[in-house]
Amino acid sequence: MARSGRIIVVGGGLAAARAVESARGAGYEGELVVIADEPRRPYERPPLSKGYLLGTDASSAVYPLDARWYREHRVEVRTGVSATSVHVDAHTVEAGGEVLGYDRLLLATGSSARRFAGPGAGLRGIHHLRRLPDATALRRALRPGGRRVVLVGGGWIGLEVAAAAREYGNEVTVVARGVPLAGAIGEHLGRSFQAMHEEHGVVFRRPAAVTAVRGESGRVAAAVLGTGEHLPADLVVFGIGATPNTQLAASAGLELREGGIATDAGFATSAPDVFAAGDVAATWNDRLGRHLRVDHWANADSGGRLAGRALAGETVRSGEIPYFFTDQYDLGMEYSGYGELAAGAELVIRGDLAAREYVAFWLADGRVVAGMNVNVWDVNAAVQRLIRSERIVSRDELADPTVPLDALAGDVA
Ligand SMILES: Cc1cc2nc3c(=O)[nH]c(=O)nc-3n(C[C@H](O)[C@H](O)[C@H](O)COP(=O)(O)OP(=O)(O)OC[C@H]3O[C@@H](n4cnc5c(N)ncnc54)[C@H](O)[C@@H]3O)c2cc1C
Repeated sequence: MARSGRIIVVGGGLAAARAVESARGAGYEGELVVIADEPRRPYERPPLSKGYLLGTDASSAVYPLDARWYREHRVEVRTGVSATSVHVDAHTVEAGGEVLGYDRLLLATGSSARRFAGPGAGLRGIHHLRRLPDATALRRALRPGGRRVVLVGGGWIGLEVAAAAREYGNEVTVVARGVPLAGAIGEHLGRSFQAMHEEHGVVFRRPAAVTAVRGESGRVAAAVLGTGEHLPADLVVFGIGATPNTQLAASAGLELREGGIATDAGFATSAPDVFAAGDVAATWNDRLGRHLRVDHWANADSGGRLAGRALAGETVRSGEIPYFFTDQYDLGMEYSGYGELAAGAELVIRGDLAAREYVAFWLADGRVVAGMNVNVWDVNAAVQRLIRSERIVSRDELADPTVPLDALAGDVA
């Protein structure tokens, strides 16, 4: 195990925090330096579209580790500093005008929000949501209520913002190209999420796209649809996806796959002593037989922890089933599984879809490849065991709430 030397972690998100925490936990005693370009220590983002946006969580809720932890564990965090280049042969990183040598390097540079770049992009009242100040600005804009909010994009973050905007008493229109969330959970269940939002007063315009934003005196006045129609608006929020921050890795000559930095199952990239984890990493996945990039919280959490142990010199192997969650109004949901295996699979519902209290399973060739529990709790671990077991199960047993899920999974851990 590496006990000395210098480990550099580039990134200021959850993956970076978990990596330094677990490198120290694994007994690494050498120098640990975090380079984070935002002006704050590493933080996590799910509260930005939930509790923090709603004003129920303080900003301190976003930090997985407090400032004292870094001091006590001798981790130097350089905030507001961007790593601008990596030289893999020389084992150096350039950051803030300095050249720093490393023995091991972790790239945890995450993703950036895809930004609207069409006509009107510079108007006041246009919002994106990725960083803490984005959420602070959006919260300030939503909090008074009574505003006309156009939300562009029917993904998870867009719908969470729609829920928060309604809870503050704003008028909300979601503009989406298709059924919301269809890419993640299919049209049938996506429609059920749309129905829930409609019950809360959200209006959907789809299929539609916002191609421009019209302003008056430098402020947003309307979102312009591809058809030329104007939707009057005080705020336009773009939730149109995120792109992984691979520039540093690409310019260092690292291999990229699936839009991310290619790593083996032990988080090692194509360059010696350089690792990658979190949103930016495309990690080898045995089940799929290819690299998989996952841009969700749990992947940054577990990937960061495992990569930290790898940095400390341990041999690790990624085997997590992709997992994510959402909270909207009074609905809570957890999803585990492989979206690409679920495409075209048979959907089986256990529970009451109309009451939004159910577990959905995706059954491919008789095996559960994904599962989603909605307002049903303490079942996700069993859903994961069922996926991992790869056992053939019948649709009737799956749909029957009296059949324990653990009985279907057998003795898989
Ligand atoms: C609003 C919002 C809500 C979300 N909600 C959920 C949810 O409910 N459930 C869920 O599963 N997932 C959710 N996610 C996704 C989840 O937050 C991400 O998967 C997670 O943040 C990824 O963590 P990360 O550490 O890999 O990267 P990030 O959190 O993106 O952090 C990367 C950091 O590195 C910095 N950086 C980049 N390049 C450099 C450089 N060259 N030098 C120095 N620093 C650099 C970035 O500025 C950033 O601070 C949400 C995301 C957002 C934005």
